[in-house]
Amino acid sequence: MPDHKSCPLCKSDNIVEVFKVTDFLVSRQEFPLMKCSDCFFIFTNDYPQENEAANYYLSEDYISHSDTRKGIINKIYHLVRGYMLKRKFSMLRRVSPAGKQSVLDIGCGTGYFPLYLNQKGWLCKGLEISDEARNFAYKKHGLTIDKPEKIEDFELGSFDIVTMWHTLEHFYDPDNYMKNVHRILRKNGLLVIALPNNSSYDAGYYSKYWAAWDVPRHLWHFDPHTIERYAGGRGFVPVKTFRLPFDAFYVSVLSEKHKGSGTAVIKGFFRGFISWFTALTRRSRTSSLVYIFRKNQ
Ligand SMILES: [Zn+2]
Repeated sequence: MPDHKSCPLCKSDNIVEVFKVTDFLVSRQEFPLMKCSDCFFIFTNDYPQENEAANYYLSEDYISHSDTRKGIINKIYHLVRGYMLKRKFSMLRRVSPAGKQSVLDIGCGTGYFPLYLNQKGWLCKGLEISDEARNFAYKKHGLTIDKPEKIEDFELGSFDIVTMWHTLEHFYDPDNYMKNVHRILRKNGLLVIALPNNSSYDAGYYSKYWAAWDVPRHLWHFDPHTIERYAGGRGFVPVKTFRLPFDAFYVSVLSEKHKGSGTAVIKGFFRGFISWFTALTRRSRTSSLVYIFRKNQ
């Protein structure tokens, strides 16, 4: 198992265990969360080797790769998806020049976002690690999606925008992706990264039950400071952030489930509302944030 002895972000040896978090969705195993005392980066430790990682994605609850409609949480997720596609597209339009843009969506799951952008007349390609999700995208949407290693084949300056919607935190080799993203973006191209925020209201409230720790699938746990430092060290400058308002509700309901609450949906919605309300005036307390970076040079 990968066992980090130093901070992956600033290389300091000054790391301490915050607490252990249970994998509530699949294995019920515990994994330690470590925090760097120098840069405050939080990361999962002792997580599975990459060749065993797929075993930890085998859950019907792990909906980002599936299209099932079982259970109330999934129903809500699917209802919200249509709205979110529209919202994500509007974010991209607000930060990019007028006209059609070429986009690469890394970790596109079942392909809804590339499909949506293509329907809007933009040109969007997707990369996805799950065979099942890629096959689904082809059968349902006629969309050909490549495996992640295809990123190495794109030429210098191929894209105006690269998006990673809740995927960077899953990557075993995030630095290699960042290096490639920098290479394949055109001059002044944009990198869009959506991430759970461990400085959010709901992260503080739910502590080790916070659903967005999602160990051992999430390896890296960012907040606004650590992601800016991380991206800054890899040739990107921050441009803007956007809130993802629904994540507070979704994450809170799931966190209540992890706690074993009998009325998880009601309690989760209530807590999600408090989190959403808190974040209206304090952006750094938002459950999930979308960070827009510009390629530096
Ligand atoms: Zn550090």
